[in-house]
Amino acid sequence: MKLEHLPNEFELARPVLQTIEQAGYEAYFVGGSVRDTILGKTIHDVDIATSAYPNEIKGLFKRTVDTGIDHGTVMILDHGTGYETTTFRSESTYTDYRRPDQVTFVRSLAEDLKRRDFTINALAMKEDGEVIDLFNGLTDMQNHDIRAVGDAQERFHEDALRMMRAVRFASQLDFTIVPETRDAIAAHAQLLTKIAVERTQVEWLKLLMGQTPQRGLQDFMDTGLWQYCPDFGEHETALTDLVQRLQHGVSSEIAAWTLLTTQFALDTPEITVFLKHWKTANQTITAVQTATTAADHLLVGDLTAWQLYQCGAELVPVANEVATILGTPDRLNLLTSQLAALPIQHKKELAITGKELMQAGIQPGPQLGAILGDLEFQVVTGVLPNETAALVAHVNA
Ligand code: ATP
Ligand code: MG
Repeated sequence: MKLEHLPNEFELARPVLQTIEQAGYEAYFVGGSVRDTILGKTIHDVDIATSAYPNEIKGLFKRTVDTGIDHGTVMILDHGTGYETTTFRSESTYTDYRRPDQVTFVRSLAEDLKRRDFTINALAMKEDGEVIDLFNGLTDMQNHDIRAVGDAQERFHEDALRMMRAVRFASQLDFTIVPETRDAIAAHAQLLTKIAVERTQVEWLKLLMGQTPQRGLQDFMDTGLWQYCPDFGEHETALTDLVQRLQHGVSSEIAAWTLLTTQFALDTPEITVFLKHWKTANQTITAVQTATTAADHLLVGDLTAWQLYQCGAELVPVANEVATILGTPDRLNLLTSQLAALPIQHKKELAITGKELMQAGIQPGPQLGAILGDLEFQVVTGVLPNETAALVAHVNA
């Protein structure tokens, strides 16, 4: 197959491939960008694989950066955008279920494609658009199938993250994992515990944000992968229930986590424990706690002005999205106008500062913060007007 019209990202990168080929080496576009172009999707990053060794690549271009030289990856900067170029590799034995013991640079494209995870990800494309398909990836693409390259059992045994990638692609592409590959995931699901949580997390979030999350989630449940994710053990019913509810992918990572914590009925301290086990950032934890409280109250219809204020413009849509998935009507417009109608939207709009409170005789220290927090609450909830004199008078009363 030859693609006639390549997206601009490939056109811009063609000189890189041409330079490598003119020096007598092979170079191809590989990975997700080739897959997504054939599927008619927009692409984000263009990956290049080559028979040239890293030092040979560095000799061909003026400006390069060793972004992952041990793995054969060099970034070429000669053509404006950086292009990551990776030397063909074959991967030897795996003893830890996640990384090859040794990476060997090879001159053969076939060797390199053989180590890739799924047939739809094992296509290569020449700079002129000709597609090299050694594992029937094009047929699988047409049939919407996710199939491991080679022996599925071996491939998941080598690298357990591939199992999460399979369910993530099922969600992102609306594809079916073929029975042989699915059975191999079910047989090896437990090996997911060998994978760093951060890497599992990336795939899990992509699953929830995919176009057909119900599909990936169903696979995630059916294969048993769910049992080997942090703190999912007690939540089988809640997770299964989500399969029915998720008609679209969630819009953000915060929405993804908030959906889970709300569905699992976790309270604020439990959210901290849960998200720490998933190794999320601290600011994610705070945001999810606020949005979860709001979603809980939206579900029962008693969201307070204070909760709305704490969400602010950033988290109101998240809380609304999650509550909508879990069964309430969409109230985004109403909530947005209620938020705008609050006396203040940010702490900085409070008509008094810590400095002014000290001038009014309050000693610096923790009580100063507590008084400010109390004033903020009274103003947001309409008990006190947002006027300096009234606020000082209240404090001195
Ligand atoms: P995305 O669109 O999310 O970037 P992708 O398929 O490009 O999807 P990457 O993680 O960018 O995914 O990987 C690029 C390519 O490298 C894949 O298409 C696949 O060929 C190969 N690959 C990535 N991870 C693995 C893995 N764990 N095992 C085998 N091959 C992999
Ligand atoms: Mg990619």
